Amino acid sequence: MVNSKENLLENALSELQKVSGIIGLKDDYRKILEKPAQTLSTSFPVNMDDGTIEVFEGYRVQHNAARGPCKGGLRFSPEIDLDEIKALAMLMTWKTAVVNIPYGGAKGGVVCDPWKLSPGELNRMTRRFTYSIMSVIGPDSDIPAPDMGTNPTVMSWVMDTYSMLKGRTTLGVVTGKPLELGGSLGRTEATGRGVYLTMEEALRQKGTSCCNHVTIALQGFGNVGSNFARAAHENGGRIIAVADAYGGVFNPSGLNIPKLAEYAARHPRRSVQGYPEGDSIGNRELFELEVDVLAPCAMENQITLDNAPGIRASLVVEGANGPTTPAADDVLMDKGVTVVPDILANAGGVVVSYFEWVQGVSSFFWSEKQVTDALHDILVKAFAEVNKTRETYGLQSLRVAAMALAIQRVAKAIELRGIFP
Ligand code: GLU
Repeated sequence: MVNSKENLLENALSELQKVSGIIGLKDDYRKILEKPAQTLSTSFPVNMDDGTIEVFEGYRVQHNAARGPCKGGLRFSPEIDLDEIKALAMLMTWKTAVVNIPYGGAKGGVVCDPWKLSPGELNRMTRRFTYSIMSVIGPDSDIPAPDMGTNPTVMSWVMDTYSMLKGRTTLGVVTGKPLELGGSLGRTEATGRGVYLTMEEALRQKGTSCCNHVTIALQGFGNVGSNFARAAHENGGRIIAVADAYGGVFNPSGLNIPKLAEYAARHPRRSVQGYPEGDSIGNRELFELEVDVLAPCAMENQITLDNAPGIRASLVVEGANGPTTPAADDVLMDKGVTVVPDILANAGGVVVSYFEWVQGVSSFFWSEKQVTDALHDILVKAFAEVNKTRETYGLQSLRVAAMALAIQRVAKAIELRGIFP
């Protein structure tokens, strides 16, 4: 994968500046939106299995709470830094606004390699980190969820730690929990499913659909990529290449996704590397394949000035957060490539997180059909509203339109609430 050092925060701020100009946002509101409302940085010790103590760095950033409690994932990764978390928190504010769910944006994380920690170390680290951010999280203030390097088990430990310290079980403090512990049916699949649904909406505008054997190249086969692939495969799409951080596989007649998923589940890092039914392919070649759709579902800064000119897909669907740099986005636009932006394409996860939170606080649980139908309706409506915004402002880019819609919604909430005191 591309290991680009582009600063995600600088890019997010330049997008905000650009879109604010297009919609004529008052400077007062832009100034508020440029800064996260609250930033918590913590260093905390953890007892390791070998008897030593390791000190970890962690963050929780709340960007804006004008539309409701802050919402966003927890990332466990050796690559993260505070600027990245600030940028991702801002993206969450836009994401929750564009799909119109009553939240603001947040993000958090710990600098660590979760693959290198034993289950016991991961458990103790998660619990101590939860204790460190205890003062800012809560079901009415800031609700974490899974992100890169975290999963439902980690969310159970966050929920348990918070609940033990509060003296009562608090299901609504975190989403993405296991089903047995107040999780929602359909949450695990939600982000990938949303990527599929928004891809279908974009294909529909081009007069086609996945079922017409649309060809897809996919980067990333984690929770988002694998569930996207499954949905696309079940609906007649042909995924001809999948690559991740360790390797990739190419098969022009289409990969058998359930088989590939089974194979990856047995790999130590859940990689597709070495899958026998296809040829090996690298990330660079994958991006240049002649396909209908390119789906970057891994990490940020993957489509850059370096590889954007070689992209031959006519549709890019961003399952990852921030996979395209602003300069690369301009290249894609000049080439006439449609980009379904992250804040719309991968919003399915936070939408079903919202359903999980509603179910948790009301202790009343929905069927899988209720979840998937409601997810479908929200995403289709959001896609249509983004399109309408695009027409209103005479824009070409769905990203600019999605941001315009989101920023307007957040600014309106700030205006209606007024400034305290
Ligand atoms: N981490 C996911 C995202 O970036 C989900 C956030 C959530 O469910 O709160 O959208």
